[in-house]
Amino acid sequence: MVREDLTKIMQDRFHKEIREADDKEIYLALMSYTKEKLKRLPEITGERKLYYISAEFLIGKLLSNNLINLGIYEEVAEVLRENGKSLGAIEEMEPEPSLGNGGLGRLAACFLDSIATLGLSGDGIGLNYHMGLFKQVFEGNKQKETPNPWIEPEGWLTDAGVSFQVPFKDFTLTSKLYDIDVAGYQNGRNKLHLFDVEGVDESIIGDGISFDKHNIQKNLTLFLYPDDSDEAGNLLRIYQQYFMVSNGAQLILKECEEKGYELRRLHEHVAIQINDTHPSMVIPELIRLLVQRHIDFNEAVEIVQKTCAYTNHTILAEALEKWPVSYLEQVVPQLVPIIRELDLRAKGRYQDPRVAIIDEENRVHMAHMDIHYGCSVNGVAELHTEILKNSELKPFYDIYPEKFNNKTNGITFRRWLLYCNRELVKWLDRYVERDFRKDAMALESLLAHKDDPEALTSLLEVKHQKKVELAEYLEETQGIQLDPESIFDIQIKRLHEYKRQQMNVLAVIARYLEIKRGKKPSRPVTVIFGAKAAPAYAIAKDIIHVILCLQELIDQDSEVSPYLKVVMVENYNVTLAERLIPACDVSEQISLASKEASGTGNMKFMLNGAVTLGTEDGANVEIHQLVGDENIYIFGASSEEVIRHYEKRDYRAADYYIQDEEIREWINFIISPEMMKIGDPYHLLKIHAELIQKDWFMTLLDVKEYVNMKERVYADYEDRMAWAKKMLVNIAKAGFFSSDRTIAEYNRDIWHLR
Ligand SMILES: *Cc1c(COP(=O)(O)O)cnc(C)c1O
Repeated sequence: MVREDLTKIMQDRFHKEIREADDKEIYLALMSYTKEKLKRLPEITGERKLYYISAEFLIGKLLSNNLINLGIYEEVAEVLRENGKSLGAIEEMEPEPSLGNGGLGRLAACFLDSIATLGLSGDGIGLNYHMGLFKQVFEGNKQKETPNPWIEPEGWLTDAGVSFQVPFKDFTLTSKLYDIDVAGYQNGRNKLHLFDVEGVDESIIGDGISFDKHNIQKNLTLFLYPDDSDEAGNLLRIYQQYFMVSNGAQLILKECEEKGYELRRLHEHVAIQINDTHPSMVIPELIRLLVQRHIDFNEAVEIVQKTCAYTNHTILAEALEKWPVSYLEQVVPQLVPIIRELDLRAKGRYQDPRVAIIDEENRVHMAHMDIHYGCSVNGVAELHTEILKNSELKPFYDIYPEKFNNKTNGITFRRWLLYCNRELVKWLDRYVERDFRKDAMALESLLAHKDDPEALTSLLEVKHQKKVELAEYLEETQGIQLDPESIFDIQIKRLHEYKRQQMNVLAVIARYLEIKRGKKPSRPVTVIFGAKAAPAYAIAKDIIHVILCLQELIDQDSEVSPYLKVVMVENYNVTLAERLIPACDVSEQISLASKEASGTGNMKFMLNGAVTLGTEDGANVEIHQLVGDENIYIFGASSEEVIRHYEKRDYRAADYYIQDEEIREWINFIISPEMMKIGDPYHLLKIHAELIQKDWFMTLLDVKEYVNMKERVYADYEDRMAWAKKMLVNIAKAGFFSSDRTIAEYNRDIWHLR
C-alpha cells in the first residue's frame, strides 16, 4: 500500500519515480501522505476533555514520529531503500521547530503523545512562534542567537479556520488558529492548537534576534520568551500569555457550546492543566468569559476552580512569575478587577501574607492564584513535591493538603527508544519477554539476563554502534571528530548555574592538569556538552565561553588531545538529543540537590543504557531507588543540607577557594595565560570572580567529591562486562519513566477523563 500510494503522489506532484526524485521532493510527498493518513485517524472523543495549556511544546521533528505511531515506519523505510533512498537523509529535510526552551516544553510534547496513545481525549493549546526560541551559532567561542524560522509553505500546520478577537487595553487582535494532528501510538488522534496573530511581521527582525518590542501587532508571535530583562520585554510576555489563554478559553467554550454542553456544567466536561505559571491568566479570563455569558460571578469562580489544575516545575525564585499590577493594568485591565476580587476573597479567608495573591509591593503571584483557585497542585518528582509541601509552598500545603499531589515526570518511549534507538529495540526484542511497546514495565524481564554474557556482549555492541553513528553524524553536520573507543561523557540540557555545567568544566580542567603532569589515562574520554543560554543570562554565556575555549585549547595540545576531548555541540535541540543520548556512556545529572525539579534527560539516558553520574536530586532520587547503589554513581550534598545552607546563608565559596589548593588551581586555570590567549579576558575574569565570590549554586561544595567520583566511573568502565550489567539494569528499570505511566496517574487523580 505504502509503495503504491507514494509512487502515485510522486507521479501526481512531481511527475517522477521515487528513485528519480531528490530528498526534498520525497520529504514533501511523504509529508502529504502522512498528513492524509493522520486525517483519517478517528478523532479521540469523550464526555470530558483535557486541555493542556503550555507556553512551550518542544515537539521535535514530526515525520518519523508520525510514521512510527501510524505503524508504517518500517514499511516506508523499506520502500525508500528499494529505490536507493534513505529515510534518514529525508528526515534531514525537515526543520525542527524550537517552540520550547528545554525540559518543560519537551514534557508537554511527550504528554501529548501519551494522552493520545492512551486513547484519552486531550488537546494542547499554545502559541505559534514563527522564529521559535533561537538558533544558536558559535562565533569567536561565544554564543550568538539567530532566528530559527521553521514554518514552510508546506508543513505540519493546518489552518483550522478558527479565529477569535482578543481584547487588550489599547487595541484588539484577531487570532488565527493552526492545528497539528497528534497521533497516538496505534491509536486515534488529538490536536495541538497553536494560536497565531494575523499581521505578525517577520521583516521587523533586525540584527540577530532583535526587534521592536513595542510593536505588539507585528511581534506578538515572532519569538518564544523574548528577552525579559527590561520592561518592554516583560510587557510582551504578558501580551503573549494573555493572547494564549484568551484564545484557549474561547476555544474551550466554543467547543463546549458546539457539543451542546451547558456552561454551568463546564467542569464536568473540561479539565485544564496549567503547565507552570505562564498560562495562569486562564483562570481570571475564564471567569470573565463565563460572567459575560451570564453566569453569576460566584458560580463562575466555582466552575473554574473545579476545572483548572496547576503543575509546578521549579522552586527557583526567579521562575515563579510575579507580575506588577501596573503591568497588567497596561496590557489587560479587564482582568485586574477580577484578580483583585480573587485576592480579596483569599485574604478574607487566610490572613497569612505568604499566601496572598497580590503582595505588599502590588505584584500578582501567579502560582498563588493557581493554588487558591485550582483543584490540584502537583510537583514533578517525589523529592520536588516533598520540598513544595515542606518548604516552598508549605503555607499553602497547611491550608490545602488535599490539593497537593506528585506526578513524577516521564518520557515517551516512542521517540526516545523506538525511534532513536532501533538497534537497541532489536536487542530488546531478543531478551524481553512481553511486548514492551505497549507496556513499558515489561522491560523488567530483562533482569533475567543480567549475567548472560551473550546478552551483555551484544548490548555493548549496540552501544558501540550508536557511538559510531553519532561520530559520523557530528562529522557530517558540525565537522566534529569523535573517537568511538573513548568514553562518551555527556551533559546536555539548558545552560543554567543550578545545573552546574561549570562543575563539569572544573572536572575537565582537573583531568587536563593531571594529563599535563604526565598521568596518562588508559582510555581517552570525550566530554560532550550541549546547551543554549538564555540571551540575557550573562553568566550562562560566560560558562559557554569557557567550554568553547577549553575545547580549542585541548584540541591544539597534542600532549593532551589523545586522552581528552571536549566538545560543545552547536544548537542543542531535540534532533541532536535523539543522536547523542543513544551514544552516551555516562549521563551527567549534577544539579545542586533540591534545585532540579525532576529532569527528564536523566530518564532518556537511562532508557538508552547510559549510567548516571548524579546528585540526589529530582528524579535521580527515584532512578537511584530503582536501580540500586550498584548501578548509579551518586555524590554530593543532600537537599536537606543544601536547604540548610540557604537558610543559614553560611555557604562561602571563597572559603573553599582559599582552603583547598586543588580547587584553587582548577579555578585559576580559567584565567591562566593559555586560556586568556584563546578567550576573551573580560569574560574569563568575570566567571573566575563569580565562582569565588558568589557561586550561588554551590559548585565548590560538591566539586571535590564529583571529581573523585568521576575518576571511579571511568575506572569502572574498564570492566566491560560489569559495566554492561549496569547498563542492562538501567534499561530494565526504566519502564517506570514512561510518560504513559505519568499520564495514567494524571488521569486517575486529576482529570478523570474516562
Ligand atoms: C529532554 C530534553 C531536555 C531536558 O533535559 P534535562 O536534562 O532534563 O534538563 C532539554 N532539551 C531537550 C532538547 C530535550 O530533549
